[in-house]
Amino acid sequence: MKQQGLKDAFGRVMHDLRISVTDRCNFRCLYCLPETEEASEFYRQQKADPSKANAKKPICYSWKPKSEILSFEEITRFVRIAARMGVHKIRITGGEPLLRRGVAALISDIRAIPGIKDVALTSNGFLFSRYAQALKDAGLSRMTFSLDSLDPANFKKMTGRTGLQSVLESIALAKRMDFDPVKVNAVIISGLNDHELEALVAFGRDAGVRMRFIEYMPLDSGKAWQREMVVAGSEMLERIRQQFALVPLEQAHAAETAKRWKHADGRGEIGIIASVTMPFCQQCNRLRLTSDGYLRTCLFTHQEHDFKTMLRGQMTDEVIMEKLQSVVWNKESGHNIGHQDFRQPQRTMSSIGG
Ligand code: SAM
Ligand code: SF4
Repeated sequence: MKQQGLKDAFGRVMHDLRISVTDRCNFRCLYCLPETEEASEFYRQQKADPSKANAKKPICYSWKPKSEILSFEEITRFVRIAARMGVHKIRITGGEPLLRRGVAALISDIRAIPGIKDVALTSNGFLFSRYAQALKDAGLSRMTFSLDSLDPANFKKMTGRTGLQSVLESIALAKRMDFDPVKVNAVIISGLNDHELEALVAFGRDAGVRMRFIEYMPLDSGKAWQREMVVAGSEMLERIRQQFALVPLEQAHAAETAKRWKHADGRGEIGIIASVTMPFCQQCNRLRLTSDGYLRTCLFTHQEHDFKTMLRGQMTDEVIMEKLQSVVWNKESGHNIGHQDFRQPQRTMSSIGG
């Protein structure tokens, strides 16, 4: 089957596949898996009428059983098929991807697939130092960490773990080992860590990493997201500009999610991902494969497509390619956060893969 690329009905061509290798996580981020008492307390405080708070008690997400999780062979087969159809960028994510044993070997196998040009990993960083050398040896060069706070107490409140020092050490190690680029994601939430915005910018400059400030999206397992908790990208930019001289950067490519600025003195760059207030759906070229083998064409979709059954059955690659093409063709035009009829998807960010 000769392929012209994975095009949808709006003319967008899919090049980017995000693969969640596990839905498990060793953190309990307040915006993702808010299962701690502190998280519940935060959401209660945000409500004018606390008795109406969604997250009254910690809600516990239950992990998918191992038998439902795609094997590495199934994942690489899917990537091989997608690569034949023009996908060339892969991000390994989760849950916490470093909880899955052998992830370095998977990365090495994916890198060897013809057509794959770029493999990156997103991690909370807690276990990175244990696997850093194996990841480097597997040919991984691009690392993204998540770090929302530089204050140990606030870090613990936000992630449910006493892990700030380990994450900082992991970021420093990635720099020393010449992972390039090293990016750091920070989800900025009103009344929680927005007071740390400028400190996080300064941290990025000093550490030589690219900070990415992300708006809080309604993908938390407690379904407690509220619009008022979102710090708009425009507000973040205005505040950062009051302390730092910034120069806008050209988009690296049309589907780039972050708007980027470099520091005027040349010491690094920042990016802002305003998924809620300034959606970039029109340029979206992403697909997401969940750890249990469902393909999602949008973070916020309510429809997902079972590829696990196909990968585990007797289907030929050609049949799977046809299915993939038809799924992509029907990719939704965009999300409708903020509209009256918006409903948060059942899947949480931890189980979709961010
Ligand atoms: N566990 C890894 C980590 O945290 O880096 C990888 C998976 S995590 C789901 C991927 C990214 O999604 C993280 O940078 C995290 O901050 C972001 N994320 C999770 N929930 C989010 C939400 N509700 N809104 C915006 N970003 C979110
Ligand atoms: Fe885990 Fe990442 Fe979600 Fe935090 S954001 S709970 S580290 S999957």
